[in-house]
Amino acid sequence: MTNHSRRTFLAGTTAAAVAMLAPGKYATAREASSPAVTAPISGVFQRTIGKIEMLSVSDGANSFPRRENFVSNVPPVDVVRALQAARLPTDTITLTFTPVVLKTNGRVIVIDTGLGEAAFRQSNGVGGQFHTNLEAAGYDAAAVDRVLITHFHADHIGGLVTADGRAAFPNSEIWVPAAEYAFWLNNANMARAESEATMANFQRARRIFGILGDSVRTFEPDTEVAPGVTSMATHGHTPGHTSFVVESGADKVIIQGDVTTHPALFIRHPDWHGATDMDAEMAQQARIKLYDRAVAEGMLIQGFHFPFPALGHLAREQDGYRLIPIG
Ligand SMILES: [Zn+2]
Repeated sequence: MTNHSRRTFLAGTTAAAVAMLAPGKYATAREASSPAVTAPISGVFQRTIGKIEMLSVSDGANSFPRRENFVSNVPPVDVVRALQAARLPTDTITLTFTPVVLKTNGRVIVIDTGLGEAAFRQSNGVGGQFHTNLEAAGYDAAAVDRVLITHFHADHIGGLVTADGRAAFPNSEIWVPAAEYAFWLNNANMARAESEATMANFQRARRIFGILGDSVRTFEPDTEVAPGVTSMATHGHTPGHTSFVVESGADKVIIQGDVTTHPALFIRHPDWHGATDMDAEMAQQARIKLYDRAVAEGMLIQGFHFPFPALGHLAREQDGYRLIPIG
């Protein structure tokens, strides 16, 4: 992805600006995004974790009409109230996407990849901005050493390949959770897919990992997957969904992936079941276990779908938690 035309780059910049202005609360977070890398770059936020340099790099956003079953185990009126309490629109759900880049021991590590170049074109740059923003931050995709994946949904693995079907990180190893790979590449599981969306996930995984071939490595939970980065099983959203603990000296951040897909709903109400959680009961248990730990240890947490720059601390609030964003 080093051959972006000027036109593509400008399209991305414009789209980033549009995405930034659309939902007001995200615009506020971005305006406050400092310290910047060298000069302020929209969609990129830098922070250090001990000796590790960490970038939140926006992939854009997706807005869609709220389905009645977006939360499957409470009446829709409760969901409307929760959105109103967070000062969010009640008829539209907006999810932002924020992959992470780490520079540690001279190596460049990417965690999750956004929707990818094909989606960038299809959405006119509203989603799939990660590669453009990565380039704007001064990183060449060819210089990425390792990509870590939390799970195999499109917004996390789509950016592994280019629109014309090549590896988007041509010199990188691609590290994926073993349980996730085993589930999505299994023919019997695919034959049991109950919805078109799930079937599309199976087909996408086959296409992408077919392209990547020998560069793919699988890992188990509690494994050091990169210097200072350890995998942690948070299964439920998908069968092998995995989070990562990034640690350097006394500093630590949890990269939670999709333990929660919408903070105002599932952080505030951790026992609510998201329609995209494949095993919602298991996802709830993983969420509460992780968030109890994050509160007890005062840990910084990064959430792929948290409002940009997708970083914050958690506090207890009534029967759930509250996200205290950093921006
Ligand atoms: Zn996601």
